[in-house]
Order: sequence, then C-alpha cells, then structure tokens
Amino acid sequence: MFDRTMMFELTPEQAQLKRSVREFAEAEIAPHVLEWDENQTFPLDAIRKCGELGYMGSIFPEEYGGAGLSYVDYSIIIEELSRVDPSVGLIVAAHTSLCSNHIFIAGTVEQKQKYLPKLASGEWIGCWSLTEPEAGSDAAGTRSTAVRAGDHWVINGGKTFTTNAQYADVCVGMAVTDRAASHHGISAFLFDTGMNGFRVGKKENKMGMRASATGEVIFENCRLPGSQLLGKAGEGFIDSLRVLDGGRISIAALSVGTAQGAYDAALSYSKQRKQFGRFISEFQAIQHKLADMATSIEAARLLTFRAAAYKDADRRVTKESAMAKLFASEIAVDVCNEAVQIHGGYGFIKDYPVEKFYRDVKLCTIGEGTSEIQRLVIARQLLNL
Ligand SMILES: Cc1cc2nc3c(=O)[nH]c(=O)nc-3n(C[C@H](O)[C@H](O)[C@H](O)COP(=O)(O)OP(=O)(O)OC[C@H]3O[C@@H](n4cnc5c(N)ncnc54)[C@H](O)[C@@H]3O)c2cc1C
Repeated sequence: MFDRTMMFELTPEQAQLKRSVREFAEAEIAPHVLEWDENQTFPLDAIRKCGELGYMGSIFPEEYGGAGLSYVDYSIIIEELSRVDPSVGLIVAAHTSLCSNHIFIAGTVEQKQKYLPKLASGEWIGCWSLTEPEAGSDAAGTRSTAVRAGDHWVINGGKTFTTNAQYADVCVGMAVTDRAASHHGISAFLFDTGMNGFRVGKKENKMGMRASATGEVIFENCRLPGSQLLGKAGEGFIDSLRVLDGGRISIAALSVGTAQGAYDAALSYSKQRKQFGRFISEFQAIQHKLADMATSIEAARLLTFRAAAYKDADRRVTKESAMAKLFASEIAVDVCNEAVQIHGGYGFIKDYPVEKFYRDVKLCTIGEGTSEIQRLVIARQLLNL
C-alpha cells in the first residue's frame, strides 16, 4: 500500500506553500528583523498578516476558521518563518500548537466555536502557561491552585516564561485542583486575559528571541465560571503532555528554519569573502563546515517531517517528536555557531544576520522541555518505563 509517511519530497502544494511563506517572510519580516530585535518590538502587524494568510490556525479544520492543513504543512510554515526571524516562528508556534491546539484537543464544541476562529484569524493571540518559578522541567510540581466555589473556580498563583503573555487575549493555564491526585490532579483553564484577577507581570529581557514577548502570568483570586474548565477536571497535565508531543514538532521545525537561515547566510558569505587572494569557500576547512551543516540540517528536517507525518496519521508521536526536537535543536545550535565562525569577526557584528541566529537558537534546546528532558522522554519510550 502507498504510504505517505515514506515520502521524501514535498508535494507540489507543499512546495508552493513553502515558496509563499518564504516570499511573505522575506518581504514583510526581513526588513524589520534587526529593529524588532534591538527594541524588543512585538511584531503585531506581521502577526495579524500571518492570521490573514492562514498561518495562525493552519492545522485546524475550516469549520473552526482554520486552514485545514496538515502538521507537515505547519512544520513548513514554522520553518520558513524562522528562517527569517525565529522570534516570529516562536510566536506562531506557541499560539498554534500550545494554546489553540490545547483548546482543539480538549475543548468542548462551545469552547472551540468561541475561541478557535478568532485565534485562527489572528484577531486574538493565544498563550499557554504551564511553567512556574518552582516547576519547570518538573511541570507536575505546579503550585497554582484552583478551588471550587459553587459553579465557579477561584484560581491563585503565578506562571513564568509564558510566550506571548503581554499580547495574549486568551491564556490556557494549568492549576492544581486535587493535590493528592498528583499527575491527575492538575486542570487546564481558559482565561480571557482582560478579566479581573488575571494579570501579566514582568516581561523578561532575553538573550535572544527578543521580538517575542516572554512574561509572568499572575492569578489573584481569579473567578472563572465552570464553563472555562478546559478538558476534564484533573486531566490538564495529561492533556498538556499530549499538547507538548505536537508542540515539540514545531520547536524542531523552528530549529531547522533557524539553522537554515544561518547556513544560507554563511554559504553566501563564504562565496563573497576573500582572504589570501581566494574566496574562503575555496578553503577545504570552510567546505567541510558547510558540508556538515547542510547534512545535519537535512537529517533534522527528515526527523521533523517524520514526526509531523506520524502525527498526521494519528499515530502517537511522544518518542518521534522528542527525537526530532532533541536532534534539530542541538544541531541548530552547532550550525549557528559554525555560521558565526565562517563570518569571522563580522559574525560577531549585528550588521550580519548570524549574530542574531546564534543568540536566538539557544532557546530551542530549552523551551518545551530541555534536551535533558527530551532524552528522558525518549529513554522512557525505549525502555517502556
Ligand atoms: C523564551 C522562553 C519561552 C518559553 N515559553 C514558555 C511558554 O510559552 N509556556 C510555558 O509553560 N513555558 C515556557 N517556557 C519555559 C520552558 O519550557 C522551561 O524554561 C523549561 O521547561 C525548563 O524549565 P526551567 O527553566 O525551570 O529549568 P529547570 O527545570 O530548573 O532545569 C535546569 C537544568 O536542570 C536540568 N534538569 C532538570 N530536571 C532534570 C532531570 N530530571 N534530569 C536531568 N536534567 C534535569 C535541565 O535540563 C536544565 O539543564 C519558556 C522558556 C523560555 C526561556
């Protein structure tokens, strides 16, 4: 039987999608990348345009305002946005595969009808708050609490490192509803960010990904109607793990795109820069760097597309997404490092794009689970633990 998961070429539609996203990114994002990074400007207009183009809800069915595309298509979108500006890739990824997808996989029909069309169009921006100051890799150590009060929930606590926090209209946040039930005692809630008791705290001043906003989210006696519970009570953490299985594919795609952007810049520079009377691309030491970079990017892309294709085939992707994320993020850090090296001193200067890729890319080995945690996830799958 013909098996789509064994295809190694993009379909004509996917190739066209890739070209379209690249054209958009080069025309609408590239001219502003330096300024957005320098001033930590959240690219609201570009994000709204991403919404108009269907990139903010690509993986959701048309009945919920989505573009009805596949996870492979979504990976292509994140890769191409990140090739020009990883911050934009991160904003779209957190919005789509964390916030919106949690609503899609766990929400009621009413919740999906209320939230997904506005999120998919980019009219609303979404964020997803799991991490807390004392609960990072050990996210089940969540301390925020949600207590039943009649037909409401009263939420108290705080989250840290939430992507899009300052610009979000909707937040999916996790809080403990039954401490004794451990992993089955954490629930997910839907917050309209303008509501009483919901507040955004400090915006982090980051090394990279500076055009994306990362901040604290604070719940102070936040009274939510029962209808804002997302998924079953007590199952928010388990649903979060499912959400992260898909989210990690987007961080793998973000890593591939960032690495590709740095590689493209290094390749082009190596053909323009002359030393000792020759283009530096003529030196074998530089050629070997380029060969290693290109090979590892191709391998990372294949792992990413494999995980995405498995997800499209409704297969469990816990191991595949962790492998893709681990490998792609680690090679992306190496590729960006070598891209700076190929630029010599100019790679250290902000006039050249590799300086920013080098700073941005480090987030990929940390966000949505560090490389150490990906190895733990993979090992548990290998050993059936
Ligand atoms: C820019 C940015 C954006 C983010 N966006 C979001 C978001 O939108 N939503 C959200 O919920 N979170 C978000 N995060 C949080 C991110 O997921 C966490 O930072 C990450 O999971 C690590 O948690 P931590 O920072 O508390 O590190 P820690 O968990 O304290 O880890 C510190 C070190 O210890 C290692 N370590 C921890 N436990 C183990 C173990 N069992 N075995 C081996 N090593 C271990 C880690 O790998 C790491 O090297 C974001 C973070 C950043 C920096």
